Amino acid sequence: MSVSILECKSCGSPNVIELVTETCLHFPGLKGLSAEPIFVFPGTVVCLDCGLMWAHLAGGEMEQVRKARSDLYGVPVTSTAVPIERSRKIQY
Ligand SMILES: [Zn+2]
Repeated sequence: MSVSILECKSCGSPNVIELVTETCLHFPGLKGLSAEPIFVFPGTVVCLDCGLMWAHLAGGEMEQVRKARSDLYGVPVTSTAVPIERSRKIQY
């Protein structure tokens, strides 16, 4: 059994659930129509009190997004962002 120690980033409720989703990412605007959609399967947290949900992409998925952004807008693929912890659970 695992118990999540996450809490909602909006209302602070501990009544959240971690799920896996499938999502198709598109870049905005007319320029974004020229890029292929990117299918990802992020770990997602949903607040069962206020409905806020947030997701975390795996490293390979982030690379796909960075590469597509670079191809579309000419932004360098490199990033200095520090990855956040994917899951914070206490195992019993
Ligand atoms: Zn909430």
